[in-house]
Amino acid sequence: MTLDDLPAHETFRAEARDWIRRHAPWDRLAKIRQMRFAGQPFASEHEWLAVARDWQRKKFDAGWACLVWPREYGGRGLTPTENVIFQEEEGPFAELFGPFMIGQGFGAPTLMAYASEAQKRSLLPPLASGEAIWCQMFSEPGAGSDLAGVRTRATPCDGGWRVSGQKVWTSGAHHSEWGIALVRTDADAAKHKGLTMFFVNMRSHGISVRPIRQLSGTSHFNEVFFDDVFVPDEQRLGRVDEGWKVALTTLSNERMTLGASTPVGFEEIFELATRTGEDGCTPIDSEDVRLRLAEWYAKVTGMRFGVYRILSTLERGEQPGAEVAVGKLVGASTTQAIAAFGLDLLGARGLAIEDDEVQQLHSMFSFGAIHRLEGGTDEVLRNILAERALGLPAEPRADRGPFRDVPIAPPALG
Ligand SMILES: Cc1cc2nc3c(=O)[nH]c(=O)nc-3n(C[C@H](O)[C@H](O)[C@H](O)COP(=O)(O)OP(=O)(O)OC[C@H]3O[C@@H](n4cnc5c(N)ncnc54)[C@H](O)[C@@H]3O)c2cc1C
Repeated sequence: MTLDDLPAHETFRAEARDWIRRHAPWDRLAKIRQMRFAGQPFASEHEWLAVARDWQRKKFDAGWACLVWPREYGGRGLTPTENVIFQEEEGPFAELFGPFMIGQGFGAPTLMAYASEAQKRSLLPPLASGEAIWCQMFSEPGAGSDLAGVRTRATPCDGGWRVSGQKVWTSGAHHSEWGIALVRTDADAAKHKGLTMFFVNMRSHGISVRPIRQLSGTSHFNEVFFDDVFVPDEQRLGRVDEGWKVALTTLSNERMTLGASTPVGFEEIFELATRTGEDGCTPIDSEDVRLRLAEWYAKVTGMRFGVYRILSTLERGEQPGAEVAVGKLVGASTTQAIAAFGLDLLGARGLAIEDDEVQQLHSMFSFGAIHRLEGGTDEVLRNILAERALGLPAEPRADRGPFRDVPIAPPALG
């Protein structure tokens, strides 16, 4: 970001820069840089988590973690702008935020809005220090885009609830201490009305976490099974059957975290386009290449200003609107298009997966692809923009009656 700093911000930036220079894990910089496109260069997930936790702990101890959170919850009560200044100075080390993104970015604002004061004071500081990792158990095999279709059930019992069902795509559940879970408490109410939100200790009896092995060989997501898990009523967030409202708080923070970012990779592609290949050709000499670069430059710049707009809205204490959906919609597909173009520019070399540069482009391409799904797919974001920003008529719906009568979608063919 290149907004001119106010004098107070200049001092803040200098302090942050100096502290980062003295304390960041510089010896791990090369590996951390490779994480930019969701790569996993560490020898094991254990090593990556240890490095990330160590950096988070150092920031927390020195007062540089979760800057906008109130002091009593482990933050410093600073402004969104100061937070962004710190992230800019953090540079590549900000990639180490990964394991804490769900807890700090989406879970914590939900706890701040709905947990009791005692719970906030006990749960938020360990989240800020990286000691506790949280996951988000929303999606199910039959409920993704249509999140209100969750079928994991909670039935009341003495002192709390018994929860049974299955969640899926739960990022980081295998190393999480806690998770927030959206479950159905009344199947006779309409789809969005009979849901309740809880936070759950992931070590509870009856929870099993099964990692899903990805094409890349890593296991980022999990299936989480609840088999008659006891959840105390004190761990309910919001009122019984009003969990949809609570989930919207989580989702709006998720979309903001994911949407307030600019597409990655333009600098890399620009550099690649200006390099003369072994055949003596320099891609940027071609008018077609220049036109594409110009188009992406315009998009990337436009999105950077979109982020500034989101920041100014937050500074005014307001909630950003459509720009968040636009940010993710345009950003994710642009990242993917830039990566695909880079691979084309490399020609046959683009198939040599052991080549570092090629590997980076492949990671960037898959990063764009997953970013187009997480936190709302492209199609869902287009629907949101059509209905809420452009005021177009809503899609016809056949699920307005009691949830019990809503048919279960047949399994996909193939
Ligand atoms: C990287 C990543 C991390 C994730 N982490 C988590 C996590 O930690 N916790 C969690 O709960 N979930 C997580 N998810 C799941 C994510 O929220 C879902 O993948 C997403 O909501 C889409 O749901 P789905 O996969 O069930 O696809 P579906 O909802 O089945 O959609 C299938 C296709 O149909 C399209 N579609 C669906 N409805 C409509 C409509 N009304 N109009 C037009 N097209 C439509 C979609 O765009 C998509 O192309 C993660 C996903 C990814 C990719």
